Amino acid sequence: MGILKDATDILFPANCLICGGSTDNRIKGYAVCKRCLSEMIPLEKERRFSPCLQEPFSGDPVPGLILYIPYPYDDVMRKAVNRLKFGSCSDIGGFLGTLLGMHLRSDGASFDAVVHIPLSAKRLKERGYDQAAVIAEATAEVLGIPFWEGVLIRRTDTMRQTESENRALNIHGAFEVPGNIVLDGLKILLADDVATTGNTLHEAASVLMEHGAGEVVCAAVCGNRASRNAELY
Ligand SMILES: [Zn+2]
Repeated sequence: MGILKDATDILFPANCLICGGSTDNRIKGYAVCKRCLSEMIPLEKERRFSPCLQEPFSGDPVPGLILYIPYPYDDVMRKAVNRLKFGSCSDIGGFLGTLLGMHLRSDGASFDAVVHIPLSAKRLKERGYDQAAVIAEATAEVLGIPFWEGVLIRRTDTMRQTESENRALNIHGAFEVPGNIVLDGLKILLADDVATTGNTLHEAASVLMEHGAGEVVCAAVCGNRASRNAELY
């Protein structure tokens, strides 16, 4: 299969998943050109872990929740995420999830399973795939742990967060865990594509904890805690 795949790559060189330019370069089977790769500069290790909530509040049901972000939400990541969300290119999710898993592994993080922030049914229908699920599945594969799809369910088609006056209130009640699922003390990695305020991850993590998770660590491929970018769902 490897020889056949190599031959296919020579006959039909793939275009870069991110910029669309020509490339003969592949990272774990994903075509990404040298220029895009050179622009993907990870954060220093000590900056990858931060409090999940950009604006902490007293009475937080999951105080001390950690968010792991290996890359800043810069030009190349914005391009990659836009193609993933709006360019019908789910392969980018596999590539980004692989990167996330590789960084988590090299930073010594370990978990029992990976869960993702699910899209609403409406957006899933529009997009045809759930980008965070694609990322989470690839991350789980790198880490050698299960990806549990369906552990978190999005209840309603919540408004885009920029349209809400109160982001925390808007997302509250958006997720549920089906009644027959028990997360008995397990350490869960909760994965998403981009993190901004951290409100969505925080809300989902609190639901996982309510259903028995022992620990939840949030992770996104990229984020910019200082930015006011919308979390697009
Ligand atoms: Zn490129």
